[in-house]
Amino acid sequence: MKFAITLVLLLQTPALPPFDSGRAWEHLRQMVAIGPRPAGSPALEATRRYIKAQLAAQGVAVAEQAWDDETPLGKTHMVNLIATIPGARKDRIVISGHYDTKIFHEFRFVGASDGGSSAAFLLEMARVLKGRKNPLTMELLFLDGEEAVIEWQDNDHTYGSRHYVEAGKRDGSLSTIKANILVDMIGDRDLRIKRDGYSTPWLTDIIWNAARRGKLDTYFVPETTRVEDDHMPFLEAGVPSVDIIDLDRYAEQNAWHTAKDNLDAVSARSLQAVGDVVVAALPQIEAHVSK
Ligand SMILES: [Zn+2]
Repeated sequence: MKFAITLVLLLQTPALPPFDSGRAWEHLRQMVAIGPRPAGSPALEATRRYIKAQLAAQGVAVAEQAWDDETPLGKTHMVNLIATIPGARKDRIVISGHYDTKIFHEFRFVGASDGGSSAAFLLEMARVLKGRKNPLTMELLFLDGEEAVIEWQDNDHTYGSRHYVEAGKRDGSLSTIKANILVDMIGDRDLRIKRDGYSTPWLTDIIWNAARRGKLDTYFVPETTRVEDDHMPFLEAGVPSVDIIDLDRYAEQNAWHTAKDNLDAVSARSLQAVGDVVVAALPQIEAHVSK
């Protein structure tokens, strides 16, 4: 019976338009051209203007969630951008990623993969999802303050996701999120995404199975690692979440948090692989949360 219901839901789910990495690449290039984009900086404000203009052009509504957070460098103004595409139900699937870049004074850090790729991906996903009748409400969540302002310890990281989850707990809206798909550092030219051991197993399985079916398992490899990222506050609050991140391979190439994280280190092909997998996995995720 359960199987039959799942099948009916899958058949009723309208197909998604294809993900266009050419468009995602152009967003990435535009944001990298803004330069280093740390939380609280005028460059991050310019990045927000770019993101909001792109969403407006697609007819996607976006809200700002702004606050001042205490950091080891003092009070910092932060803003999450919440883009919503209403679906048949109020229940939501969130696709999230950070758009800030880490502060470095010793070198110019433009975060092509780390900060750029996630924001570019979300912008193109907004276009893809806007072109389809979605059974659930879809949210594209651009998170501020993922990066530590000094070092990743205590509370010096994931400011945006922690703030978002706290606000959602307070107003009761968090319970309408049925799944959260986090993307981070997905631009690596030599992309190799390991399963994240903290992530929700059923959600991880759906995504890695979609990759295998799509013959993209050279990008989504079977090894498991553990990465603390913006999905942690969601997991702690009981929201099923998966982190799609290539940290290990990027670090091996000395591109993580270095001057090498620029346009030379990333490729549109990698964004395409992740886009294809998420687009292929989404109907299964929708069916799973609608059971
Ligand atoms: Zn980073």
